[in-house]
Amino acid sequence: MAMSQTLDPVFLNRIRQFATDEIAPAAPLWTKGQAPGSELFRRAGELGLMRLCVPEADGGLGFSFAMKAQVCAILASADFGFAMSVVNTHNVAARIAASGSAGARAAFLTGLLWGEASACTALTEPATGSDVAAMETRATRVRDGWVLDGEKVWIVNARHAATAIVYAQTGTTGDARGIAAFLVDLTAPGCRRHAISSDFAQASAGTGGFVLSGLEVPDDNLLLEPGQAFGAIMSEINGARTYVAAMCCGMMEAALTHCSAHGASRHSFGKPLAAHQGWRLPVARAETALAAARELTNAAVAAIEEGRDAQLIAAQAKICATEAAQTHLPVLLHAMGAEGLRPEYPMARHLAASQIATLVDGSTEMLLERVAKLARPHSETRT
Ligand SMILES: Cc1cc2nc3c(=O)[nH]c(=O)nc-3n(C[C@H](O)[C@H](O)[C@H](O)COP(=O)(O)OP(=O)(O)OC[C@H]3O[C@@H](n4cnc5c(N)ncnc54)[C@H](O)[C@@H]3O)c2cc1C
Repeated sequence: MAMSQTLDPVFLNRIRQFATDEIAPAAPLWTKGQAPGSELFRRAGELGLMRLCVPEADGGLGFSFAMKAQVCAILASADFGFAMSVVNTHNVAARIAASGSAGARAAFLTGLLWGEASACTALTEPATGSDVAAMETRATRVRDGWVLDGEKVWIVNARHAATAIVYAQTGTTGDARGIAAFLVDLTAPGCRRHAISSDFAQASAGTGGFVLSGLEVPDDNLLLEPGQAFGAIMSEINGARTYVAAMCCGMMEAALTHCSAHGASRHSFGKPLAAHQGWRLPVARAETALAAARELTNAAVAAIEEGRDAQLIAAQAKICATEAAQTHLPVLLHAMGAEGLRPEYPMARHLAASQIATLVDGSTEMLLERVAKLARPHSETRT
């Protein structure tokens, strides 16, 4: 596939090493609520993880989307939450590089590109998630800028991010054309943030929320004007759906690697587990589901790389990969017996993450709606 021409194997090997040597050993602590240290985030920055697809002219590495998808898969094979934290910061840096004012670029870009600070993108609110256009956070025009009021929840990196891209309504609630995007300094007066904890380990993703009360944003920090912001979300989301699919493939790959090694070394009834047909068939089914998810993910990556419309294929890739992870990770965990529950194996963490993957960047139901509309465009009118 043409995609391999756009990959840099030396860089990818460096990231594999980072995932194995530095992320995987720390990740078990993150399930107990401890957050990744800022040194690890800075190390990710030094390695170039927040500069990946940012143009070289803006201080980035100028890599392809195919590289981003590969990097996401590698990071998620060690820890999905950390992968989400890194890629969300990268995405904010890329957006500032693409549409930030000179002032915004000077204030925020370098710190984000080098992992000295994290960043988040905030759409979801207490009362609205899937129905993005119904957001209630308001942006009111004032002299020289805007005032933001509202609350955002379930936001990756909100616990520690210095900067957020906040989407807010400037017009009538429900009118997607009124939504604009603002760069917000989360340390400014008028912002109160909180962590969101759950049994589905949110520590490495830094999940949290914030309340904005009369927070002032200068004109310089208007990133996407009303009329532009909703379209930008929709065009970027195919990429996000595709890299989340790649992350699920990465988690499946890691689980299969651990499970196969266990099946070869652990014995029952006088032979290795893998020598029992009843043991190896469910593992082979997981292997097959991973192969299918990978094919769709690669097709979505290719569509994005080639500038083709990726809406349908990205939705299908994410549905297939998240469902493969949701269905087969419990099977692989079971195939390792009690040993699979030990924290040094990522099985239980990945299982929780697969649940989160079904929600972020479009829930499975929203994606199925996309497929229903796009796969056979005339079927709605026939019924
Ligand atoms: C760990 C984590 C990190 C996240 N990070 C971010 C982030 O960084 N930034 C951000 O903005 N958001 C983030 N989100 C929020 C995520 O985008 C939302 O969870 C998602 O959009 C779904 O919204 P909701 O949870 O409010 O569910 P709802 O919209 O309330 O839906 C609830 C359920 O009903 C289903 N549903 C809704 N409408 C329909 C329908 N019309 N037909 C059929 N089924 C329907 C949904 O699929 C879902 O299963 C994150 C969420 C999690 C869990």
